[in-house]
Amino acid sequence: MTAPDDASAAELRDAIVRGELTVGAAVEASFGRAEQVGAGRDGLNILLYQDRNSARRQASALRRAHPGVLFGVPVVIKDNIATLDMPTSCASRILEGYVSPYEASVVRRLRDAGAVVVAKSNMDEFAMGSSTEHSAFGPARNPLAPDRVPGGSSGGSAASVAAGIVRIALGSETGGSVRQPAAFCGVVGVKPTYGRVSRYGLVAFASSLDQIGVFGKSVDDAALGLETIAGLDPLDSTSAAEPVPSYRDAARGGLTGVVIGRPREYFPDHLDARIRTRCDAALEALRRLGAEVRDVSLPHSALAIEVYYIIAPAEASSNLARFDGVRYGLRIDGDGLSAMYEATRSRGFGPEVTRRILLGTYVLSAGYYDAYYRKAQQVRALIARDFARVFAGGVHLLFTPTTPTTAFPLGAKSDPYEMYLADLFTCSANLAGVPAMSLPIGRVDGLPVGGQFIAPHFGERQMFVAAYALERALGEVAHR
Ligand code: GLN
Repeated sequence: MTAPDDASAAELRDAIVRGELTVGAAVEASFGRAEQVGAGRDGLNILLYQDRNSARRQASALRRAHPGVLFGVPVVIKDNIATLDMPTSCASRILEGYVSPYEASVVRRLRDAGAVVVAKSNMDEFAMGSSTEHSAFGPARNPLAPDRVPGGSSGGSAASVAAGIVRIALGSETGGSVRQPAAFCGVVGVKPTYGRVSRYGLVAFASSLDQIGVFGKSVDDAALGLETIAGLDPLDSTSAAEPVPSYRDAARGGLTGVVIGRPREYFPDHLDARIRTRCDAALEALRRLGAEVRDVSLPHSALAIEVYYIIAPAEASSNLARFDGVRYGLRIDGDGLSAMYEATRSRGFGPEVTRRILLGTYVLSAGYYDAYYRKAQQVRALIARDFARVFAGGVHLLFTPTTPTTAFPLGAKSDPYEMYLADLFTCSANLAGVPAMSLPIGRVDGLPVGGQFIAPHFGERQMFVAAYALERALGEVAHR
């Protein structure tokens, strides 16, 4: 017997534990689905590496005696998260074929819970982008509309969940890279509080912003995934000791007395009217569930994009200095050491990564540091303070659109700034370090629209209460 297509990760695990389905069959079903939708290079190009043999080995090594919460559940991992048995290339030429000598803590935790890693997913090179078109291995496509992007930078992971290959996938967030593709692909995407999840084994992009996030087909899948990977990790000194509550228990919570803020800066006049309508309907549903909806203001969020595109490239220019042809991956020899660095880095990095390194080096350079980097850090503090003020004023959660548009056609955003605007509503949460998530709230012209909840630091559980309730209330409307 095989599990029905709509079985959640938890149901799949239970069916396996009850003996109605073997781990091998669950894993084969995942590969079968990947084949059927054309997930590989010649098709949607959402998976960079699939390893059937490794998956079979993982499956047969699982012990039934104490089955974990993800026993036999196939998962997909973004290609910037280190895995032992598959390459970790960050979708970059500079790391093509690179296999990490150690594994990310999140991957370890998934495996310890019984999950089977089936593939590494396509992404924007070094997680820089919003469409997965900046992958050195070709753009990924949206399974719901193959002429459109799946979003990015974790586009391959979002698309794998949307295409039904897995129920749970990992991505990473620096400025929206889980929530934005989740919105474009019609799945759930969670960016936890900074420090909630270990970054050990995540290839660093901008260390003060980076956080590993989870995709789920449903809110429950995402809750289960997050519950499994969250918590203190001695290998990451920025991971928090804060206890991890059960996020799945949030399914039983209600919204009576919960105050949901509607920040006016996230509903600008130029917002697509149809996206606004879907958000208003979601807010109406939240009201009917007992929540109080209140208009609030986060004035400095209007500067989030500008601030993000100074801080993130600055940190990236430092983090990516390690890819120099000596220690990792690609090396192109030249006449002397400098020539080798130059040849390796010019050939190894794609245009967007090069742009970010140049931008980051510039804003950190003597004479510009105060004007750009320091100024950006100051505005970042103001953005964070806005959130703190609103939450201290009795607002439990915020609700906004996840993105200003639905999934755009491949090639539509050739101007980098246009692409950067895709993070308009997401990057403020990264700058403030607060948790946020996107879930499907309806469609426009057949394309998914995401609604975003933002919570105070370590307020993931409250966020899940609202997400479970809204998902139930919207039902099929969320996918129509
Ligand atoms: N799209 C943003 C960028 O290009 C965010 C990326 C991310 O969250 N990793 O930097």
